[in-house]
Amino acid sequence: MIKLVSATGLLLLARVAAADVCQVTIEATDQMRYDEQTLPVGSDCSEVEVTLRNTGKLPASAMGHDWVLTKTSDVSSVAAAGMSAGAANNYQKPGDKRIIASTKIIGGGESDTVRFSLGLLDPHESYSYFCSAPGHVSIMKGRFVYKPSSAASVAKNEPT
Ligand code: ZN
Repeated sequence: MIKLVSATGLLLLARVAAADVCQVTIEATDQMRYDEQTLPVGSDCSEVEVTLRNTGKLPASAMGHDWVLTKTSDVSSVAAAGMSAGAANNYQKPGDKRIIASTKIIGGGESDTVRFSLGLLDPHESYSYFCSAPGHVSIMKGRFVYKPSSAASVAKNEPT
């Protein structure tokens, strides 16, 4: 009986957690493009799961892509540090604290997923994602738009 109760409890917890994970997919191509210039994430997500899909045909060595999330102001410096880190490190400097989340570099037909907590983000900060493969950042980047719950501010602005 005790076992049954605890198993049910676990099941409920798992359901609650799953509901808070928002899944988004972004595609990258052999034309060195992402299919989305912005990724909006709603206020009811506690975690985000981003899946990068490389819809191209070229191998990672020729046209590999990744998805790296940083503050918008960090994009250029993180991309430069990644270029020095080289292909063996997915063009991401190992241990770079400015990287909030990232996938590995993938070739055509491959995909990779990264999951992270929105609690890592500051609602007043601007965030962007980009591809850290050398030379790609100038074209392959977009805004990660995080919309925190606005219930409080809406109530405040409403005439009473
Ligand atoms: Zn790329």
